[in-house]
Amino acid sequence: MSFLLIFGAFVFYYQGHHQRIASSVKNIVRIVRPCAFPLTYSIGRFDEQFDISQEELLDDVKLAAGKWENALGKDLFVFDPDNSQQFSDIKINLEYDYRQKTTDKLDVLGGSIEQTRAKYNTLKSKYVALKEELARKKGTLDDLMAIYRSSKNHTEELVQRIRAAESDYNDAVNAINSLVPDLNAIGKQLNITVTSYNTIGAANGPEFDEGEYVSDKTGASINIYQFNDKQRLLRLLEHELGHALGLSHIANPDAIMYRLNSGDSLELTQLDIDALVSQCKI
Ligand SMILES: [Zn+2]
Repeated sequence: MSFLLIFGAFVFYYQGHHQRIASSVKNIVRIVRPCAFPLTYSIGRFDEQFDISQEELLDDVKLAAGKWENALGKDLFVFDPDNSQQFSDIKINLEYDYRQKTTDKLDVLGGSIEQTRAKYNTLKSKYVALKEELARKKGTLDDLMAIYRSSKNHTEELVQRIRAAESDYNDAVNAINSLVPDLNAIGKQLNITVTSYNTIGAANGPEFDEGEYVSDKTGASINIYQFNDKQRLLRLLEHELGHALGLSHIANPDAIMYRLNSGDSLELTQLDIDALVSQCKI
């Protein structure tokens, strides 16, 4: 009788907690075989201020997950059909904060910031190169003037060299001066945007600031903070799903698992695939 009671209690407990137990068992198996079961995901917090619907987000997650799955020929992620946040392995949260707000504001400001910034950077490096050249030319001129001052017999050759060095120096000054107005104009145009970008960078460090993967006792989640367009979001999801699979950053800038969302391709590099194969112990 008491056995039946205990058994009954166990069945009751099991019924109530079978999902939790199933997920605990899976997690134990995963210690040995990390990719044995697909990770279930659900949508957690979803801020409507992002210009995307839940369906679109789910489609994007599926597409991003598919890149890893195709590489391995195996299901690695599955949407939790009940969207039961409590039991899914990963919650995907869309968190609207100052990051996306700034992105939206910059979008409204219009113009391609990337282009303006590229132009600015080209001019800036030209400016820096000219300044170095100017310093070199001033050095040459100073050296010749020192020789001139230290001797009483000034050869015609020395005088000619000084004149040539003076003229070189003046050319460099003019070259710099002709660049400055352009540089300042573009710099002014960029001022707001550059400041905003720097603030974002400073607040979040250099890693994929647009999102993060966090895992603690309460579970794992992918938090999305900011994306400019679908491509950036897909790359971001791919990267964070890679973390969810247990992958770390890869030093190659072409890799999806590179710490910055700097590339354009959605395709995994061989380095990403190698890391996945090694992580899944296949
Ligand atoms: Zn990362």
